[in-house]
Amino acid sequence: MALARRLPLVSDRPAAKAGLRSERTLWPDRGPGVFEQELESIEDALMTTTVEKAVAWAQSGSMWPDTFGLACCAIEMMSIVSARYDIARFGMEAFRSSPRQADLLIVSGRVSQKMAAPLREIYDQMLEPKWVIAMGACASSAGMFNNYAVLQGVDKIVPVDVYVPGCPPRPEALMEGIIRLHEKVLAGVPPAYEIKEPAS
Ligand code: SF4
Repeated sequence: MALARRLPLVSDRPAAKAGLRSERTLWPDRGPGVFEQELESIEDALMTTTVEKAVAWAQSGSMWPDTFGLACCAIEMMSIVSARYDIARFGMEAFRSSPRQADLLIVSGRVSQKMAAPLREIYDQMLEPKWVIAMGACASSAGMFNNYAVLQGVDKIVPVDVYVPGCPPRPEALMEGIIRLHEKVLAGVPPAYEIKEPAS
């Protein structure tokens, strides 16, 4: 329930302070009239918002992930569309086969050096705004693959918005990451590619 705001006393208002001497402003303890109170409550009754908030609400409720699996983590990712997890609840059931129709890249699995360039190309083909989830230890930091053949974290080549830990993360963990991403979008946090690194 919205908290009712308290209108200032008539004698505290700019018109009274500017020297207006009417019957109302000469009454120091005079509170707002009934009409003023009704006008004040209209904003709560009408559910006003801003364009930015409305757009963020729509974006968070209709993210479309790209169909892109790399390794064992992808098996867990695939299951989030099943009846058990049902990401259709978030308007996300449509995994897109073209990056041009997707705005969420779930990097699920280790990224070999050979796959780095295709992954970046897919990311570049996605329209903005777009978001990236690094799913699992391998995508986040290469996990157990501390060697020359595997990229040591996908954030070396694309900006990452949310990291999901685990090897593999269960579908519930990925769902948690997706919900965290929704919260960031609703809070007005810009996508990772818009956030500039502080100068070192
Ligand atoms: S984090 Fe574990 S499950 Fe996921 S790709 Fe790496 S080894 Fe496989």
